[in-house]
Amino acid sequence: MLLHPPTEPVPIQEIGIHQNVRLFIKREDLIHPQISGNKYWKLFYNINHYLEKNPEKPYIITFGGAFSNHISAVSALGNLAGIPTLGIIRGEELQNKWRDNPTLLFAKRNGMNLKFVTREEYRHKEKLTEFLEQEFPEALIVPEGGTNPEAVEGVKMMLNGQTKDFDYLCTAVGTGGTIAGISKFCEDNQKVIGFKVVGDTSLENKIFELTLKQNFNLIDSDFGGYGKMSDENIHFINDFKEKYNIPLEPIYTGKMMQKVFELIEEGYFPENSRILCFHTGGLQGIEGANLLLEKQNRNLII
Ligand SMILES: *Cc1c(COP(=O)(O)O)cnc(C)c1O
Repeated sequence: MLLHPPTEPVPIQEIGIHQNVRLFIKREDLIHPQISGNKYWKLFYNINHYLEKNPEKPYIITFGGAFSNHISAVSALGNLAGIPTLGIIRGEELQNKWRDNPTLLFAKRNGMNLKFVTREEYRHKEKLTEFLEQEFPEALIVPEGGTNPEAVEGVKMMLNGQTKDFDYLCTAVGTGGTIAGISKFCEDNQKVIGFKVVGDTSLENKIFELTLKQNFNLIDSDFGGYGKMSDENIHFINDFKEKYNIPLEPIYTGKMMQKVFELIEEGYFPENSRILCFHTGGLQGIEGANLLLEKQNRNLII
């Protein structure tokens, strides 16, 4: 088995008591130094099942944007396991600029082959996938963000005896696989809140199809759009790190935590609620984010 369940659970840290609710964070970002957070669990069964089938020549193909945590994770996995990988990357303009992008540079150094496609081609990923399936019949083709039914099963590993004690389970939502797994496998009395960092209005249905439960709520948390960084949120992330010594990144976890604090202020949670936020990782993105912020003469993430 290439990916293992944890030998000991990652820590759950208390952030403190605010307005009569208690807030905690589960450090899934600590699960692996390079295959971080939810991406580890989303890949878990996908990779293990694929390798159990013993393909003669394993090959992993997947999709992502220029700063994708998923691309980063799959490339690291390929490198560790000695499996060749191909990343289909959104944005033809990156063809000659990938060296300036820390995520793509990391992927390339891990031996990932990068193929850059136009935004238009990327939007029609099903076509690309069909083509790749014909071209590489033995390959494992993992969808964007790693979301599929096997990924949802893997997210079950983020839940354990300790997570049962909480009234609310919170996670950032991109393609929806992570929240679907939490919703599917949590206790009946637990409520799940997804902090949506993308504008996709079809997400609710997609998630429902994967979990078949209605215990989750989505809250808009895109702060101006997917991947957009606000100075206020950067300030929040830096403040959070100083106070609690926990790093957040500006695409998912930073936005979720700021929104959670706002909800607490607004009295969204009943008194004495116990709230657990999943730190889904993605810290590799900070370096690339800082390069962008620097170019725009803005405050950096510390
Ligand atoms: C990919 C990612 C998410 C979103 O997970 P989905 O399953 O796509 O909704 C959340 N947080 C981080 C850090 C991620 O990298």
